[in-house]
Amino acid sequence: MHLIFSRRHILRHSLQNRWILERTLYIMDIEEFDNYSYHRNDDYNNAQTSALTDLYRQIITNLGEDPNREGLKKSPERIAKAMQFLTQGYYQDPKAILESAMFKEQYSQMVIVKDIEVFSFCEHHMLPFFGKAHVAYIPNGYITGLSKIARVVDAYSRRLQVQERLTNQIKDCIQQTLHPLGVAVVIEAQHMCMMMRGVEKQESCTTTSAFTGLFMKSNATRAEFINLIGKKLH
Ligand SMILES: [Zn+2]
Repeated sequence: MHLIFSRRHILRHSLQNRWILERTLYIMDIEEFDNYSYHRNDDYNNAQTSALTDLYRQIITNLGEDPNREGLKKSPERIAKAMQFLTQGYYQDPKAILESAMFKEQYSQMVIVKDIEVFSFCEHHMLPFFGKAHVAYIPNGYITGLSKIARVVDAYSRRLQVQERLTNQIKDCIQQTLHPLGVAVVIEAQHMCMMMRGVEKQESCTTTSAFTGLFMKSNATRAEFINLIGKKLH
């Protein structure tokens, strides 16, 4: 299990660019990182669970259903727990997550973590939006554990969000904690509120991006990042 791909591995797989040849790049494909998984949060707050359960029972009634019929009997409590899990980001401190694995290191090339799964809720309709996040930074004396980047994405995703703010929050958190030479965040997501209702566009994908430092100043650096995540962005 290679967390950090070797130069040869990267070259063999995708990159032919001679300039990149001379550099060492740390790339992690999150799907290959087996330590990474969504941890289950079974520590539900009892008061919150029972308040939410009552409210979801009312919602089901108000939608015209019978909350006492067999299939729905336990649904209010299940929904209450699911929603607590899906909004647990409010109780997580993303900066503390990064600081918990911050190491002094004189590595100053681009570090990329790509294809981080994103599951979030649009705050306008409380319907899910989901997709992939690609995050890069250029260290300035400090690096962080690669899985921590994915955890930061989770901590901000598991809240009521808009994709634009989610993108900025991830960028700001990394910038303000690691103080790198630059941060780049791209999120591509599909929104259920657009797919199931409203304009009913099933295939549309929303891309947001946010950059700081070198990614903003240098077209070449930004282009290298876009190239490495394999996207065609403008
Ligand atoms: Zn929406």
